[in-house]
Amino acid sequence: MNTEVKIIKPGYFKWIGKNRCKTGSNVILIRDSGKNILVDTGSQGEDKKIIVALKKEKLKPENIDIVIITHPHADHIGNNFLFKNALFVDSLGEFRGDKFLLAKAERRITENVSITKTPGHALEDISIIAKNTKKGTIAVIGDLFWKAGDNKLIVFESPGKLKQSRKKILKIADWIIPGHGKMFKPARCRRESGASLLNIYIKKI
Ligand SMILES: [Zn+2]
Repeated sequence: MNTEVKIIKPGYFKWIGKNRCKTGSNVILIRDSGKNILVDTGSQGEDKKIIVALKKEKLKPENIDIVIITHPHADHIGNNFLFKNALFVDSLGEFRGDKFLLAKAERRITENVSITKTPGHALEDISIIAKNTKKGTIAVIGDLFWKAGDNKLIVFESPGKLKQSRKKILKIADWIIPGHGKMFKPARCRRESGASLLNIYIKKI
């Protein structure tokens, strides 16, 4: 059986004024080895949208076994409360309720799904690598890219680390799911924009 990876609640990002934006992350469902994994949970107030999206997949919030958080920004963790039965995985380790297990950020979660450190946007960033999908290897990378062709960054911890993390992902991923845009194929994106995905311009705010 192939690993399935799907954006079930599309992310968005819009400027609405100086230093103000509207934002919600992609919410991604991964099915592997009989486990339902959700990556990121969007912004506060998107709970109903997520419940409807799960229903289309014949799932309820209590059917989610594992929630993986790419990084702890509020537009990626706003609906964690929905998933009462889930094991929560982040860069530190694993939480079930208030029970915490310290674990390495480089590890396998299920047979075809693993996590790896990709700091830069935030220092805690992790990416999820899903192998054996119909599209090859898909990387779900939080805000390492906000969207396809994205090289303007306004929230970052370390541009140097971000560049290294992008290099690491571009080497292994056939497709990338960014934090707020559609899934894209790095090779095609590079051809169309004519720009290297590693040219990073830091927009000051
Ligand atoms: Zn972020």
